[in-house]
Amino acid sequence: MQLKSLELFGFKSFAKKTSLDFASSITAIVGPNGSGKSNVAEAFRFVLGEQSMKSMRGRRGEDLIWNGSKAVPRAGRAGVKIIFDNKNKLFNIDFDEVSIERVVHRDGINEYSVNGSQVRLRDIFELLAKANIGASGHHIISQGEADRILSANARERREMIEDALGLKIYHYKRDESIKKLGKTRENISHVESLRKEITPHLRFLEKQVEKIEKAKTMREDLKERYLDYLKRESLYLAHAKKELGAARKEPEHELSRIGKELEHAKKILASSRESDGRGKEIISLEEELSGVRSRKEKLTRELGQIEGELRAEERRIKAAKAAGEEGATVPLKDVRAVYEEAKEYFKKAAAEQDLSAIKKLISSVQDLLSSFLARRPGSATLDESVLQELQAKHTEIDAELGSVRKSESTLTARYHALESELEAAQTKGRDAERKVFELMNEETVLRGTLSGLLQQEALLLREEEDFKREVAEGAILIGRELMEYAHTNVDEAQVLQEERKAQEERRRGLEKLKIRLEEFGGGSSEEVLKEHREVKERDEFLAKEILDLNQSAESLEQLIDELDVELKRQFEAGMKKINEEFERFFRVMFGGGSASLSVVVERRRKRASSDSELEMLQGVPAEEEEEAEPEEGIEISVNLPHKRIKGLEMLSGGERALTSIALIFAMSQVNPPPFLILDETDAALDEANSRRYGDMIENLSKKSQLILITHNRETMSRAGILYGVTMGSDGVSKLLSVKFEEAVAVAK
Ligand code: ATP
Repeated sequence: MQLKSLELFGFKSFAKKTSLDFASSITAIVGPNGSGKSNVAEAFRFVLGEQSMKSMRGRRGEDLIWNGSKAVPRAGRAGVKIIFDNKNKLFNIDFDEVSIERVVHRDGINEYSVNGSQVRLRDIFELLAKANIGASGHHIISQGEADRILSANARERREMIEDALGLKIYHYKRDESIKKLGKTRENISHVESLRKEITPHLRFLEKQVEKIEKAKTMREDLKERYLDYLKRESLYLAHAKKELGAARKEPEHELSRIGKELEHAKKILASSRESDGRGKEIISLEEELSGVRSRKEKLTRELGQIEGELRAEERRIKAAKAAGEEGATVPLKDVRAVYEEAKEYFKKAAAEQDLSAIKKLISSVQDLLSSFLARRPGSATLDESVLQELQAKHTEIDAELGSVRKSESTLTARYHALESELEAAQTKGRDAERKVFELMNEETVLRGTLSGLLQQEALLLREEEDFKREVAEGAILIGRELMEYAHTNVDEAQVLQEERKAQEERRRGLEKLKIRLEEFGGGSSEEVLKEHREVKERDEFLAKEILDLNQSAESLEQLIDELDVELKRQFEAGMKKINEEFERFFRVMFGGGSASLSVVVERRRKRASSDSELEMLQGVPAEEEEEAEPEEGIEISVNLPHKRIKGLEMLSGGERALTSIALIFAMSQVNPPPFLILDETDAALDEANSRRYGDMIENLSKKSQLILITHNRETMSRAGILYGVTMGSDGVSKLLSVKFEEAVAVAK
């Protein structure tokens, strides 16, 4: 026995705790109308998780709770507990006994527990589905519901059959998977929209990072160029400094030499200027000499005169001696001739410069006059005193002239000596002067050269300062590593060979690069990089999540497909078996004929508007019915023996009951549930059919425990245990074990 017992407390009319044991494979519950028998069947539904109030004849949970009577106060809750034997693992849990309990409170709250531990409703469903106890309740046939399976539509019928086949578990899984899939898709779109939200920011940050990276490359480039430039510049400066230092040496040396020479030359020049004293001496000598000369001329003239007078006197004396006569006459023409001739001599003398020539001319005149006189007849007396006087005077003058001449020659010698001395001194001074000029010219040229060099040095100094500034600036921009420029590899010979223009070109390049870099820069790159990293990580995380979600959606879809396939396979196999059993039970029930189930595809139609009456009143045609998904349903076709009845709706009440019983039994045979409850399913049967029914029940009870609520004597006779339900004036259902005869009595 798998079903052990059922306990009710406060459930509907069972105000007090009531327990039913199911020790037999067939248990019958009997009792008068309204005593509460159906409440027992509903207690089964309730405890197995039924959610439809309608199928428990209530509107709300509260309706299931003992509502009280004059004698017994109402209960706060209704509870039902069902206990199964689990030794042969009917349920997939590790207990020998499984108790399932459900309690509903007046506020409508339901509690479920398995073996005393609270669980969720779906846990109950899963647990039951595995034990072939479906929630659709095909194993609980309520009163008047015997032909429920016949009156149900094709789709509901399919559900019942699936439930009977134990396929509900696949449906749960499928529904769950679909739900999960929906949730997953929702998540996907949520995550996608999250990702979409950050995309523009990420793009922006990516651009920033790109900029930063470009700036980094530019800075690298700048650094390389800087190192190269600085190395070149330092080489150039060092070289230029050395060269300038060397270039200065020679002119400086020359300049010091020229300085010395100039000093020397100036000294010479100064000393040559001192010879001015000699000039003065020459002048005074010249004056002295000219004095001596005019004295000499005067003396010479006087001497000449004296000599003339002397000769004239001598001639007179001589003539006086010779003629003895004084006053001899001389023809005029002779005197005039002498005069003319003398005049000629004087004229010549006056024109003559040379003294000796003049003297000669004078002496010629003397001779002329002496000869003229000699031709004249002799003079009277001879007076010799004048002559002597003249002769003394001549001697005196002649002596003075001699001394004058001597001093003249002395002075002349001195003059000439001075003159040549002066000339020599002047020559020397002029040379010195020329030398000074030359040296000064040279000095000017050298100073020019030197000042050029100094200018170059000043320029170099400025370049050195520029260089230092460039290094400092570069260090700010690039960092300490810029100081490595000293170790940069550069072809030194090439550096010293190339034109300065090339280096300037490099410097301009550097400046341009710096400006570009500055344009790029701005903002803390570290922050941007960090933010980019974070946003990127977030984006990648979201992308990964989308991937994961898509993967799980895919595997859910796959699972759903697999479930569909499995469902279809099992359904088809189950349907085949049910059909066989249905046919068999049907033939037993009707003593022939045939019956079968077939799968039909229905297009479920649903109305968009339900207010068709209003539409009709208003003359508006009903809205087009929408076509929905095609659905598989189950159709039943019957073929009664000796009757031409095919449609279910043409069956009599009894025939319907027999058909539905045959179908219910067929269903339960394929996948036998642990128990089957039939609430007055036999109500419409006549005696003969009741017997057939009883036979089948006994047959069924080999596979499932049966709980039969019945008024049927035949049915009661088949039961191992009989419970009688009674209700007194307190409205409380009471349960008691009864004997067959008692049961027959109670049932009436
Ligand atoms: P029949 O043989 O005519 O089918 P039955 O034995 O199956 O009758 P039930 O339909 O099970 O009888 O019982 C109905 C009884 O239970 C009614 O008397 C009804 O008043 C009582 N009942 C139903 N719900 C409650 C409730 N919540 N509190 C008290 N009594 C209730």
